Amino acid sequence: MGKPTGFMDYDRENAAAVAPKERIKNFNEFHTPLSKEKQQIQGARCMNCGVPFCQAGMNICGMTSGCPLHNLVPEWNDLVYTGNWEQAYNRLAKTNNFPEFTSRVCPALCEAACTCGHWEDPVTCRANENGIIENAYEQGYAKANPPKVRTGKKVAIIGSGPSGLAAADQLNKRGHQVTVYERDDRVGGLLMYGIPNMKLEKWVIDRKIAIMKEEGIVFETGVNVGKDIKAAKLVKEYDRVILACGAKNPRDIKVPGRDAKGIYFAVDFLKATTKSLLDSDLKDNKYISAKGKKVVIIGGGDTGNDCVGTSIRHGCASVTQLEMMPMPPKERAEDNPWPEWPKVLKTDYGQEEAIAVFGHDPRIYQTTVKEFTKDKNGNLNGLVTVKLEPKKDEKTGRTIMEEVAGSEKKMEADLVLIAAGFLGTEQYVADAFGVNLNARTNVATEEGAYATNVKNVFAAGDMHRGQSLVVWAIREGREVAREVDESLMGYSYLSVQ
Ligand code: FAD
Repeated sequence: MGKPTGFMDYDRENAAAVAPKERIKNFNEFHTPLSKEKQQIQGARCMNCGVPFCQAGMNICGMTSGCPLHNLVPEWNDLVYTGNWEQAYNRLAKTNNFPEFTSRVCPALCEAACTCGHWEDPVTCRANENGIIENAYEQGYAKANPPKVRTGKKVAIIGSGPSGLAAADQLNKRGHQVTVYERDDRVGGLLMYGIPNMKLEKWVIDRKIAIMKEEGIVFETGVNVGKDIKAAKLVKEYDRVILACGAKNPRDIKVPGRDAKGIYFAVDFLKATTKSLLDSDLKDNKYISAKGKKVVIIGGGDTGNDCVGTSIRHGCASVTQLEMMPMPPKERAEDNPWPEWPKVLKTDYGQEEAIAVFGHDPRIYQTTVKEFTKDKNGNLNGLVTVKLEPKKDEKTGRTIMEEVAGSEKKMEADLVLIAAGFLGTEQYVADAFGVNLNARTNVATEEGAYATNVKNVFAAGDMHRGQSLVVWAIREGREVAREVDESLMGYSYLSVQ
């Protein structure tokens, strides 16, 4: 530990954010990182404490506490403080294939578990990570490092989201020849066409993919496996196949009026905006515009928040976000102590922007939709909402949300975005490969393993775990790579952690 009293000497300092009313004028990232010197000071706040939950990545009460990649957080915090940026990069690269993504989009499970955060502000682990990786690019340490020896084994990876990319990176480093198939026109999965540009500018993905290509990974975009190419052909031509196709099936809201024109799934809305932005700076008009519309988003989570931020950038007339669950407390409840993930009210960037533009938080809690209403041409013109209240289910003991009789209300809307979660694997891919699904419609494997019921076919990421986080997708990508490597070579020295 570089500075024994750092946690008392220095306050947490975050990267500055452009003011909400200014940043909504474009789709750019809006944080200005601290200077290198200031970031070093932030590194000094880490105490390399005896209880570093930050790197533990363990399950406590059904939620992850600390980093699932077991990033060596105290080690690189210290190296940042002492100005050993290259060594810090080497320690970070040991456990994380894509710090440039996680340092922008991860909810920072490490910070939620930081000992400093027990009483006061946690260490700025995510910003330190960002400083390390961006400095590594600037200084040229983050560069192509192709394997010196090839094994002669071929692996096909279906899906170029973070799990497929992490598996590809690991297996290529090991010397296997990797081809990644992607049905979209650009590589990155939800990093590219889910997470909006203002959270993750897309050149950041392209920069890393260029390095991966230089290292020998082949990317085949615009290829829908199971439709454009037969699954059996890939299984025959490659030694191993990894399915990393995500969990795209959206949960629908099946209420009367669902066929009204003007109701879309969140990811379709977000994807169209990003594609149009990248293709034509939004000039081709090939996106679902929220301009001048009264937007209602069903789902109070992170995807819903991304829809709020995107709708505001389009110039919507109003935006409302409906959430079924009660508003979380502002501070940890007694039954949710540190280092558990804090179940507290979070006001994310989109909600901050809504407050700045419209003067109020867009979220309405304990509310759902009973009906969509439409005009005589079938266009959506509103919805009927109903209040919900928590009740204990006598049989299961679980809390369920029950409708409050007579609490129906009308609400105007001409654009509805459904951000109500995902229901797992798309059936056609599972059918094409003949892999079994479990009760949650994720690809079934043994607990903690990645081999499917089909010989030489493996599954990872959201398709295996269910809708999750980028950091978990990377972890699954690393783990499946190790299992595939072992199955090919009889042993593996690929590290998972
Ligand atoms: P995906 O990223 O879904 O990638 C799967 C890829 O497979 C896709 O590119 C798809 O086109 C391709 N594919 C599917 N079928 C085929 C086929 N048959 N042939 C060829 N290609 C195919 N997590 C965070 O940590 N932070 C965030 O800020 C965050 N924001 C999010 C915002 C939104 C809107 C959404 C929906 C999710 C967000 N997540 C976030 C979750 C995170 O993006 C996912 O958990 C993660 O991307 C899953 O990675 P994956 O590789 O398993 O799948």
